[in-house]
Amino acid sequence: MSLEVNKLTGGYSSIPVLKNESFDVKDGELVSLIGLNGAGKSTTINHIMGLMTPFSGTIKVNGIQINEDVEKYKQEIAYVPEMPILYPELTLKEHIDTTIMAYNLNYASAWEKAHQLLKTFRLNNKLDWFPANFSKGMRQKVMIVCAFITNAKLFVIDEPFLGLDPLAVNDLLKIIENKKKMGASILMSTHVLDTAEKYCDRFVLLNDGKVNYEGTMTDIKQRYSNYGNSLNDIYLALARNDSHE
Ligand code: ATP
Repeated sequence: MSLEVNKLTGGYSSIPVLKNESFDVKDGELVSLIGLNGAGKSTTINHIMGLMTPFSGTIKVNGIQINEDVEKYKQEIAYVPEMPILYPELTLKEHIDTTIMAYNLNYASAWEKAHQLLKTFRLNNKLDWFPANFSKGMRQKVMIVCAFITNAKLFVIDEPFLGLDPLAVNDLLKIIENKKKMGASILMSTHVLDTAEKYCDRFVLLNDGKVNYEGTMTDIKQRYSNYGNSLNDIYLALARNDSHE
């Protein structure tokens, strides 16, 4: 199992944002975390990334908890945030070298993967550029390249469908498909439900820090057949109900 979130309660102060949240991401799965603004998607991701400590409950990535082996736990995860975080004083090449060092990767094979990804995202002639010269989408692509040269078991991608151009979204989906075939898994948070419906294997619907529903599109359609026929329609009806509770 790539990710197991078990009865996670956590948040920013003594009042929990996440309340007894449980879900998993199996090997080779692409799972989408869906919820309205403030539902707790980023807070969930921050806990998984080890940036926040649970009040109670456990998180396992590839079978290990962060307190068992921090370095190993972090090497099992690669993260692509919605707002790219790059080092202003490092070139694109130096970002890749830093990732290779941080994840303890084989230099030659990591660079081989990097060259392919850089070509895919049309960054191959920009190795000496600094982040200040890149557009927002290009910065996002740098983060994607750095994430996907790793051998992480779990890839966490925050809102991949906004900011990237349609060609890049398509290329990213192909890269994800390849990683899935190799047994890695992807957890993404997104508001772009029609694309999520098309590509994700399973959906975790979050509301007010709780998992409202978890299942495949077939499960969701069966359970909420009276709400509509697409993830977007069903989710809109569910969200309207929840916000009137
Ligand atoms: P969005 O779709 O807007 O990105 P989200 O589902 O990622 O939303 P979170 O950012 O996880 O939502 O927020 C969940 C709750 O935690 C909200 O009530 C929010 O006000 C609160 N929250 C988020 N960040 C902080 C913070 N730094 N300090 C205190 N509370 C916070």
